[in-house]
Amino acid sequence: MEEHIERIIWTEDQILERVSELAFEISTDFKEKTTSLVVIGVATGAFMFLSDLVKKIKLPISVDFVRVESYGFGTESSGKPKISSDVKIDINGKHVILVEDIVDTGNTLFCLISHLESKGVCSVSVCTFLDKPARRKVHFEMVGGGKFYRGFECPDYFVVGYGMDFAELYRNLPYVGVLKPELYN
Ligand code: 5GP
Ligand code: MG
Ligand code: MG
Repeated sequence: MEEHIERIIWTEDQILERVSELAFEISTDFKEKTTSLVVIGVATGAFMFLSDLVKKIKLPISVDFVRVESYGFGTESSGKPKISSDVKIDINGKHVILVEDIVDTGNTLFCLISHLESKGVCSVSVCTFLDKPARRKVHFEMVGGGKFYRGFECPDYFVVGYGMDFAELYRNLPYVGVLKPELYN
């Protein structure tokens, strides 16, 4: 699999160090909150980040997932995300952190934040592993004073690894990289 990677952008060590910092920030920010925290991963891409992140959060939390379909098999967003699997936990009155692999146009988060808001949450924060602000098309806002956490700002490349796929492959790479150009065709 290594031979498919043109270049590594963040190594496993760099990632785990940054994830620890994020978990520390979250643990500090939510320490005084009286209602419990629900961490909601956006499947499938966020599974690895969520797993590393929650191991380091020093608070009692619940974990759940939502599934959103938007990308299909290409590298361009369809622009109309659909929630194909909803949260199972009752999040009414809860503080929620939505965990994403990467924010690109912002379509997915815009859709998910308003969906969760309609369930009567106390607040919605977002913790995304990567952020590509250069490609943002849709503006989204946190709810109830929630915060926006991000691991790294990502240059405008289509990246894979650490949960992120190309045509459902490469999610299991422990680092983030760019594929050789011939593989994207
Ligand atoms: P958005 O709705 O913000 O345009 O796209 C968000 C979703 O698109 C991400 O959760 C991710 O699944 C996918 N995506 C965006 N950029 C990339 C990328 O560079 N690599 C991969 N593998 N997926 C991406
Ligand atoms: Mg995602
Ligand atoms: Mg994908």
